[in-house]
Amino acid sequence: MKISDIEVILLRQKEAIQAIGDSTQDAVIIKVHTDEGITGIGEVASSPYVVEAIVNAPLSKYLCCGLKQICLGKDPLEIEKIWQEMYEQSSWFGLRGAGIHAMSGIDMALWDIKGKYLGQPVYKLLGGAFHQKIRAYASTLFPDNAKEIAPIVHNYVQQGFTAIKFGWGKFGQILQDDIQMVQEARKASGENILLMIDAGGNYKDVTLALQQAKNLEKYNVYFFEEPFPPDELSALAKLAQSSPIRIATGERYSTRYQFEDLILKGKVDIIQPDVGRVGGISEFMKVAFIAQQHNIPCIPHAWSSDVLLASTLHVNAVIPNGGILQEFCVSEKPLRKELAKEPIQQKNGYITIPKKPGLGIELNEETVETFRIK
Ligand SMILES: [Mg+2]
Repeated sequence: MKISDIEVILLRQKEAIQAIGDSTQDAVIIKVHTDEGITGIGEVASSPYVVEAIVNAPLSKYLCCGLKQICLGKDPLEIEKIWQEMYEQSSWFGLRGAGIHAMSGIDMALWDIKGKYLGQPVYKLLGGAFHQKIRAYASTLFPDNAKEIAPIVHNYVQQGFTAIKFGWGKFGQILQDDIQMVQEARKASGENILLMIDAGGNYKDVTLALQQAKNLEKYNVYFFEEPFPPDELSALAKLAQSSPIRIATGERYSTRYQFEDLILKGKVDIIQPDVGRVGGISEFMKVAFIAQQHNIPCIPHAWSSDVLLASTLHVNAVIPNGGILQEFCVSEKPLRKELAKEPIQQKNGYITIPKKPGLGIELNEETVETFRIK
């Protein structure tokens, strides 16, 4: 079997894109086609236009080649070899960031092909699932006003969720406003709901972030996510060493190399790699095992369509330091909810790992056609 084509599908909501922390406003799907008629799908959690350029760029010079040209004609079952070849031959512009994001979608699609070819779900190919279902947490953005929090919490609890995370928005700007938000959330949820807070990298000051961590402890917050921008590893380490609650981050990092730094220098308590950015399923596994060596749990990030969520469920189920929680983006946007033929649902706060061959997810081609940028 040989890779015969790679298709980059750009999707965008009809409304204007807003500068808010909502990555379900657009999406980029990768289809890897083979000469035997099997097609694998993957998703990249990045800028769709940048990803398109990285996949389709022709050879520019040695070690400076677009991903499609590197992959064409290769045996799609040789995933590790293809990963290394993409990594090396795109290293002029790749190595981290968007280059690795784009590789993630191709890697995911190759795992989908392998599963479909062998008639097995990806979690089996990866070594076997420790969990058949994982506790989901409703992941949503902070509203503008603390008064709006209670109905949001009640809604997710009513849907069956036992864990909720609020993130981004104005959190991290005015300490008193932040405290009010968290206070309202805890008041509405009661004591039995797991509550998490994501600062979206908004803090510039370790002292202030530590003060916030101490406040969050009062409301029994399970983890405090991404307090600082990604390069602030020494700030992270200072906070993590004094914080009374767990510090989590990882969605903006790619490859085992960045995660090793995050673990050793950033000293975080929980890592949150995104399969659509870290380097795909193959690289996610390596990152998770590095974390396991340091006794660090892995709670993967996922805030896009069901293609990303399906991939995430497979890896979350098979890693020994996973299966704790699965981020479940509760955005009502069509690219979040309607891109799969059979959308992944939570039931009583849990999501079941897909069992069909490959990633176990099929695209709803009508939705693709509706939102595709031609
Ligand atoms: Mg986050």
